[in-house]
Amino acid sequence: MFKTLYARIAVVFLLLFLLAGLLFVLLAGITNRLYLQQLDQQVNRHLARDLVIRKFFIRDGQVNTAALQESFEQLMKINPSIELYLLDPAGRILAYSAPPGRVKLETVSLVPVRRFLAVNPEFPVLGDDPRHPELQKTFSVSPVPAKGPLEGYLYIILGGEQYQSVADILRRNYYFRLSAGVAVAGLVAVVLAGLFVFRLLTRRLRILATAMNEFKDGGFATPVELPDSLFHEGRDEIGQLGEIFHQMSGRIIHQFHQIRQEDQLRRELVSNVSHDLRTPLSSLQGYLETMKLKDSEMAPAERREHLETALRQTGRLSRLVNELFELARLDAHDIQLNREPFHLAELLQDVVGKFRLAAQHHEVELKMETPGGNCFVEGDIGLIERAIQNLLDNAIRYTPKGGTVVVAIVPDGNDLVLKVSDSGPGIDEGDLPHIFDRHYRARRHLEEENGTGLGLAITKRVVDLHGGRIRVVSQPGTGSTFFFSLPQWVPLKID
Ligand code: ADP
Repeated sequence: MFKTLYARIAVVFLLLFLLAGLLFVLLAGITNRLYLQQLDQQVNRHLARDLVIRKFFIRDGQVNTAALQESFEQLMKINPSIELYLLDPAGRILAYSAPPGRVKLETVSLVPVRRFLAVNPEFPVLGDDPRHPELQKTFSVSPVPAKGPLEGYLYIILGGEQYQSVADILRRNYYFRLSAGVAVAGLVAVVLAGLFVFRLLTRRLRILATAMNEFKDGGFATPVELPDSLFHEGRDEIGQLGEIFHQMSGRIIHQFHQIRQEDQLRRELVSNVSHDLRTPLSSLQGYLETMKLKDSEMAPAERREHLETALRQTGRLSRLVNELFELARLDAHDIQLNREPFHLAELLQDVVGKFRLAAQHHEVELKMETPGGNCFVEGDIGLIERAIQNLLDNAIRYTPKGGTVVVAIVPDGNDLVLKVSDSGPGIDEGDLPHIFDRHYRARRHLEEENGTGLGLAITKRVVDLHGGRIRVVSQPGTGSTFFFSLPQWVPLKID
């Protein structure tokens, strides 16, 4: 029932308000009583003195009971709540105006009497009530006689029994009903206002909670739009929570997709690797088993042929494993490139030098064209070398005897473009969009033993990592040209 924040706040608020209401009634009662007592005592401050001035209450050491009775009757007519006592100088009660048996104290404490008679008393001063020893009441007191040697005191209790009961009735009927009425009305009004305000305040929290639940229900993969009203009231705590949730959910979704993608890649890789390794491995195993079975019957030439085939298959296997490893390394998200400026033409010369023998072997003419001037690019020299090697290797491999392969560097604005052209068979239109995909090999080259279908994928990844672009122009029968561009490196000029 009290699960929502709103309900909890409402209950706490209600309890606090009830407590505050109770405290208010209590405090109001106390201050009101003090105020009435002060008023009553101040108004009747000189009552006792006025009586003492007019009458002799003690004459020749004897109590003048008649004077006392007369004064009491007079006062009763004006104020029936008053009670009169005549005390001796020690506070002992000598005579009083009440019916016999009602007075329970014999002595009245003189401490409050002296406080009352001080120069500037602080009202209300409460003194003993002889009829109710457990109560303290307001009084008026005067020494008897008013001037001259002290013979006693005239002690008048202002809020006598009758007054007390009337005040009680009044309080019960009027004061309490009024304050209770006011408190209840105030309570209802403030509670209603409070509930309304809390509902408004918790509204944005509810919006946020709904958005979070939606995000959870969407499997943490679907973005949730947060309404603008969540941020309207400035960057308060709820606004900040919304902002953080927004960033957090964005990040979770991004990582979720990344993990899914990586998982997909990993699955593809495992299935491709097992497929690619299976063919050369089973061929290798076949040849080795044949050799083992027919060992004695095999002619040396046949054995040599088998061994050479097995060796070719291991070469293919090792090439495949190397390329798969390289591609996996390049695919890693945290790959670090060793970027440095280097001379592209010099690198090209080195690579071409390494391929001269292979070109001769294939009976293909290998030419190089490099421009003068700034041939510097910035990048990972090892990876760029690998990319050029792949293109050259393909060009020489796929170009038939007597053909030509040309590598060239062509400046293009702020870039340097590396071109590898051959006079080979070209690439069919249907294969062109796919040749940079991993494991893709044109149909006409599927039987080629040396191919893995990974070379161009590696080259493209290297060029992508360097912020360059790779493309191919090819027409079946006339050859192919591969281009990739790299941003030219310009040294900083220091004056
Ligand atoms: P492979 O190891 O099969 O050469 P690549 O990724 O290097 O793998 O190349 C993918 C495919 O693109 C090749 O199988 C081939 O069909 C085609 N190809 C690449 N370079 C050339 C080229 N210079 N001439 C014709 N076809 C090419």
